[in-house]
Amino acid sequence: MAVLGAYRCIECNREAAELYRDYQRGVLRISICKSCQKPVDKYIEYDPVIILINAVLCKAQAYRHILFNTKINIHGKLGIFCLLCEAYLRWLQLQDSSQNTDPDDLIRYAKEWDFYRMFGIASLEQTSFLLGIFLTLWWMRPEMLKTKSDFILLLKALLLSSYGKLLLIPAVIWEHDYTPLCLAFIKVFVLISNSQAIRVTLNLNRMLPWLAIIFGLILENGVVCLFQKMGWDV
Ligand SMILES: [Zn+2]
Repeated sequence: MAVLGAYRCIECNREAAELYRDYQRGVLRISICKSCQKPVDKYIEYDPVIILINAVLCKAQAYRHILFNTKINIHGKLGIFCLLCEAYLRWLQLQDSSQNTDPDDLIRYAKEWDFYRMFGIASLEQTSFLLGIFLTLWWMRPEMLKTKSDFILLLKALLLSSYGKLLLIPAVIWEHDYTPLCLAFIKVFVLISNSQAIRVTLNLNRMLPWLAIIFGLILENGVVCLFQKMGWDV
């Protein structure tokens, strides 16, 4: 027996019991939403590449499909990989700023340590960014974040929507005059994706996700300032 609420309509966000019905002998029929009379999830017929393109274009329907109607479970690994990308970028910038030509490479180990340090700092910054978002949303809309599963779904949405950080690596490897501009674009793209993910997950208007993101950024920058006051190179 299909449970109502197992899926969501990607058009109107209403809960649905099933995405398609199996009439046996290979006959399948896409379910129609009772509320908006459109297919509950047209993307189940689409190629993953098309879905990815729609997600890159920040279409709410594609986000709903990925978050509510699939069993994608790569957010943890993706989150760690994005942090590694960020740590690598910072580590590279640190190497550029401290050109040490000492042939006696004790320094190789110091460099390795620097990478782990950058990973730790990037993790703390990311945590404070997420914490800022959670606190704002929990404060403004406590009814939306009542249970543990609400928090987990929002965390999953935020981690998955940060996939744009993977672009940091090619941007740094193929370095050119416009690299700083590319990095700024990547940052903006990730923030837009995060905002769309919050909007879709909690079914909010456009304003509140941006408010949460701004507060997250303030908290993140507060942590950066704290590190700088402690004399750490970040
Ligand atoms: Zn609908």
